[in-house]
Amino acid sequence: MTVTQSSLHPRATELVDEFTQWRHHLHAHPETAFEEKLTSAFIAQKLQSFGLDVKTGIARTGVVATLHGKKGSGKRIGLRADMDALDIHETTNLPYASKHPGKMHACGHDGHMTMLLGAAKILAENPDFTGTVDFIFQPAEENEGGGREMVEECLFDSHPADAVYGMHNWPGRDVGTMAMKPGPMMASYDIFEIIVDGRGCHAAMPHLGRDPITAAGQVLLALQTITARNVNPLQSAVISPTQIFAGDTWNVIPDTATIRGTVRTFAPDIQDLVEDRLKTVADATAKAFDCTARVMYQRRYPATINSEAETAIAFAAASRVVGADQIDQNPEPSMASEDFAFMLNAKPGSYVWLGNGPTDGNCLLHNAAYDFNDAAIPYGVSYWISLVEECLSA
Ligand SMILES: [Zn+2]
Ligand SMILES: [Zn+2]
Repeated sequence: MTVTQSSLHPRATELVDEFTQWRHHLHAHPETAFEEKLTSAFIAQKLQSFGLDVKTGIARTGVVATLHGKKGSGKRIGLRADMDALDIHETTNLPYASKHPGKMHACGHDGHMTMLLGAAKILAENPDFTGTVDFIFQPAEENEGGGREMVEECLFDSHPADAVYGMHNWPGRDVGTMAMKPGPMMASYDIFEIIVDGRGCHAAMPHLGRDPITAAGQVLLALQTITARNVNPLQSAVISPTQIFAGDTWNVIPDTATIRGTVRTFAPDIQDLVEDRLKTVADATAKAFDCTARVMYQRRYPATINSEAETAIAFAAASRVVGADQIDQNPEPSMASEDFAFMLNAKPGSYVWLGNGPTDGNCLLHNAAYDFNDAAIPYGVSYWISLVEECLSA
């Protein structure tokens, strides 16, 4: 492995206090999917103050700012940060803890916005590159598919990037390290609901009805045979039933039983296989117990798949910031998912992880005690700037 000298951008270090203040402000004012109004206004105001061309209202609360290089026209790249918080009641007791009860930046998107804003500020001071950069601030990453909505609202017609890049903070990896690889980084996210219909009756006379609870129990077990017996053992898939409910009282067999859950895969053909088998297994198993099954299967987010060439560029850019020896080039992909996948389906690009420090205590994404690590800010800012240099140096 080649070892290169790491170097933070000098302005990223000089301005770190200002960036940290932005991060704490954003942390204190979390907003969830498509309600990022204060967040959006804060971002737009900052970007305008840097002299950028700012468009608001893309995918409702999204903001995109464009910066042209002073060396003339050339390639165009999009750099994306997500904006939304989660429905979590924060327990950090930090001085800048959430002022919005029940809402919290527990996924570090406050840090993502800060780092992209910081890079925009520094690049706008001296746009010493050839081509164009779009700073994409995307709403509603967690559940509602703000990334899809931006693509559907023709983000890449108005801002025709040649490639797009994303980044997520990653607790459990040291500050000053990064991770990336071509191919899948994050899984697809599908949801399902299986309603098993039987016929309710007196619990003491089950032979007079058709028990959906026993049938649902068999369906629940049979679902796991899909990953165990149908998916190639060298491929990955998870089927996790997460909710099951039926009945209201002790002595009545109900009419229906419902199972809900999620499916995660990396490869589109495995996703097809699991959806197909899940429907067949639910239907045929319910029938075997004299019931029927109604299956709802919904694909929410596709897998996040990095392209080869753009990941090599991301690696070169990251190497100049953290040093090649601090980059994990073969991270285990995460079974979590990410709606940047919609942008990566539309354009080549790369999604990387930025080390956010140890997972001591409850320092885990989506935990009520999580706080983005400010020590990572200069690394993220410097990576974005290095990436622009790497992509647009022609
Ligand atoms: Zn999250
Ligand atoms: Zn996140």
